[in-house]
Amino acid sequence: MDMVTIGSITEAPGAAGAALPEAPTAVVGAAGAGDTAPPRAPAARTVDAVKVYGRGEAEVRALDGVTVDFEAGHFTAVMGPSGSGKSTLLHAVAGLDGLTSGRVFVGDTDLGTLGERRLTRLRRDRIGFVFQQFNLIPTLTALENIVLPLRLAGRRPDPVWVGEVVSRFGLDGRTGHRPPELSGGQQQRVAVARALANRPEIVLADEPTGNLDSRRGAEILSFLRQAVRELDQTVVMVTHDPVAASYADRAVFLADGRIVDELRDPTSDSVLDAMRVLGG
Ligand code: ADP
Ligand code: MG
Repeated sequence: MDMVTIGSITEAPGAAGAALPEAPTAVVGAAGAGDTAPPRAPAARTVDAVKVYGRGEAEVRALDGVTVDFEAGHFTAVMGPSGSGKSTLLHAVAGLDGLTSGRVFVGDTDLGTLGERRLTRLRRDRIGFVFQQFNLIPTLTALENIVLPLRLAGRRPDPVWVGEVVSRFGLDGRTGHRPPELSGGQQQRVAVARALANRPEIVLADEPTGNLDSRRGAEILSFLRQAVRELDQTVVMVTHDPVAASYADRAVFLADGRIVDELRDPTSDSVLDAMRVLGG
């Protein structure tokens, strides 16, 4: 295995003096940011996205005409029952999976116009993806997994930033462990750290706190929200947890492959109410 050389990263000075100050304690996005700022082009969007799996009797319309904007510098939660198309939507926005019809844009770029190489490069340079099933490489250490996207892109990891992420996610003593030696929660935190390692423009996270207890979950969610506030990143997070959704600026609800509702500045109560209405 010569593809990853971690170099000075092992010497990373932890959280000391690193970029992000403490999170504000209020859970709901402070009023203001969205009210006065001039409109910006969305970081990503879909136009009439349709994704059909299978044929005939077995046909499933996982996305059935989804048109949605993911605003730049915002944190959006994507919610909906199991099988409603959340993962399919996230994969489509990341260009990991093509659509049956419709379009996906990242910034101004229509992903459908890109060949495989340019698509791969765009994904690598601009998108951080947290897979629902983590997709860590079992033979690499946690740290090697975290910096792998940077290595593949031929870029040097910023040791201060990587150290900050590792430390904030409680992975300090675990960076030399391989995924099979880590708990599910630790693997999930490695998967989130990997998506953040190169400070991508857009972070797409599929249930990134699904395997975490509430304290660890809150650490990750606060960190994602800070990344949006302070680094102007765009985060799109799939979750079924109303508390997780309350960290977002906006929640969109999917059912049967369609967007059926949307909330601004969601609170866990308003999300629960919306889920009750949609579920009934
Ligand atoms: P969610 O993430 O909201 O649980 P998914 O996007 O994973 O939903 O799936 C939406 C629908 O598409 C489900 O009915 C699922 O069974 C189906 N589906 C997802 N991936 C595939 C696939 N690779 N082949 C066939 N059907 C799929
Ligand atoms: Mg899913």
